[in-house]
Amino acid sequence: MKCVICNRETDAKGYCELHAKAYQNINERYVIWKEALETSWKEYLSEIVKNQLTGEWAREVAKYLIDSGEK
Ligand SMILES: [Zn+2]
Repeated sequence: MKCVICNRETDAKGYCELHAKAYQNINERYVIWKEALETSWKEYLSEIVKNQLTGEWAREVAKYLIDSGEK
């Protein structure tokens, strides 16, 4: 399989190791965000993309999720 974002070969489904890790981080942080700010998933993702402090991997994953319309 290939990573849906960077086309690197991967054993896992969908994401390569680095993007899978970034995806996991995004999900974990959303739990905290949701409780503090009642932010929707989409709003949260666009915050990640806008945030200067976001790492390159996480930004790519967030962009991909927005484009693919995943909830
Ligand atoms: Zn990747």
